[in-house]
Amino acid sequence: MRPPMKLLDGKWLAAQVQRRVKSEAAARLAHVGRAPGLAVILVGDNPASRAYVANKQKIAAHCGFLTFDAKLPADASFAQVQEAIEKYNADARVDGILLQLPLPKHLQANALLDLIDPVKDADGLHPLNQGLLARGEGQLRPCTPLGVMKLIDLAFSVTEPQGEFDIDQLPQADLAGKKAVVIGRSILVGKPVSALLLERNATVLMTHSKTKDMAAVAREADVLVAAVGVPRLVKADWVKPGAVVIDVGINRLPGGELVGDVDFQQVSEVAGALTPVPGGVGPMTVTMLIYNTLRAYITSQAITSQARPLPNRGVFEETR
Ligand code: NAP
Repeated sequence: MRPPMKLLDGKWLAAQVQRRVKSEAAARLAHVGRAPGLAVILVGDNPASRAYVANKQKIAAHCGFLTFDAKLPADASFAQVQEAIEKYNADARVDGILLQLPLPKHLQANALLDLIDPVKDADGLHPLNQGLLARGEGQLRPCTPLGVMKLIDLAFSVTEPQGEFDIDQLPQADLAGKKAVVIGRSILVGKPVSALLLERNATVLMTHSKTKDMAAVAREADVLVAAVGVPRLVKADWVKPGAVVIDVGINRLPGGELVGDVDFQQVSEVAGALTPVPGGVGPMTVTMLIYNTLRAYITSQAITSQARPLPNRGVFEETR
């Protein structure tokens, strides 16, 4: 009989990271007298983006951060968004800046992301941070890929997702000798996930819409990450028995149901560990934004604080 599948509960894992971020922020506030600050820029009134932004601010506030926001109309000009970014770049209370994507079509997202001060780039999407990631360096990595890696750590650990758990005790999975297949090659998810998997010594194959015989390629994977945007694309016969499967996709069906890129029902019969949708990667993405903001704050404190900086510990110790 096969061992039971491990359900990778992203809500639970996110709560453990948030508790750690909250305690670290409180310790540093007591030490230097300033809380970390997150600024969010929202352009337009896309309901999903509005809900995401509200959730990010709620979690930031829960962790003891100051939050700032700029809400701009859907027809805001490039110059108006630029002005909001530059205001937060110059504000010493702000450690992390998030420009909520997608932007209205008339605005060039990349040109605006390029204007964010790279040391405040909480989403890790500035080209400098993407370049540092490619070099295996840098502090601020994109949030969804960071969350994916934490879920992979959970999959390979003996930790069961229940009760309170000290996230500093979660070992980093060593993926040496493991094959990882990433479906999707976006700048937001597929490419940075591949870089992080490579950093952990996995043998990584990055695939996309032009890949031939995707099912056979995916079946080779010990770790399969799906970041596609096609509902329930990954079926049971795409998955090697016992594989770790991370479903990044968030797709709304015509009836309103939210599903991933993985056929959860089928794949749960085969996989060794699997993330649900909702409740898997999504909560981790939001949480890693707060984590990145704290990392940016720690870096800025090390530079500007009169007080001797607190040492970095546990999950804040290095590029994790
Ligand atoms: P994206 O920019 O549209 O990229 C999708 C990728 O999938 C592309 O590289 C595309 O290939 C590839 N692809 C499309 N159809 C395919 C197929 N049939 N077989 C193999 N590859 C295929 O999307 P994204 O921003 O990476 O997002 C992917 C999904 O993750 C979406 O559902 C999104 O909503 C979700 N997402 C979730 C979170 C979260 O927090 N959970 C965060 C970000 C994104 P080509 O490059 O050849 O076109």
